[in-house]
Amino acid sequence: MVQENCIFCKIANGEIPTRTVYEDEEFRAILDMGPATKGHTLILPKSHAADLYELPEETAAKVLPVAKRVAALLKEKLGCDGLNLVQNNGELAGQTVMHFHLHVIPRYENDGQRILWKPTEPGAQELDEVLAELQ
Ligand code: AMP
Ligand code: ZN
Repeated sequence: MVQENCIFCKIANGEIPTRTVYEDEEFRAILDMGPATKGHTLILPKSHAADLYELPEETAAKVLPVAKRVAALLKEKLGCDGLNLVQNNGELAGQTVMHFHLHVIPRYENDGQRILWKPTEPGAQELDEVLAELQ
């Protein structure tokens, strides 16, 4: 299903022309227009889902194989030295386009990017409490 006024629905389904790196029946992978690095690609399902929570399981199961293909392409053609997969859900987590997308970000020596978080130092008890909350 496509959602009206969703730019990634329009892009994924070819209504708005874009730079397509890979396409199959269910996905389109495009060049990000504000790339972190050369070759930064977004994998978009053609069917609308706002985020991971809304993404049907069957679609979710097909995303990683697409990411593997794109990753191989980026390595083969652009010679990247590493790769980050990033997937933001919710405004608080940095999601700006509310149509599920997986970032495939090739990394190069001295590319000046940092896709990291600041580790904290919880004690064993705190970790045990979190685990208990999740059970
Ligand atoms: P996120 O912050 O995870 O929602 O990522 C949204 C990404 O989409 C950003 O990296 C934008 O640069 C990219 N983006 C937004 N609009 C377009 C567009 N029309 N074509 C290509 N990339 C886009
Ligand atoms: Zn959409």
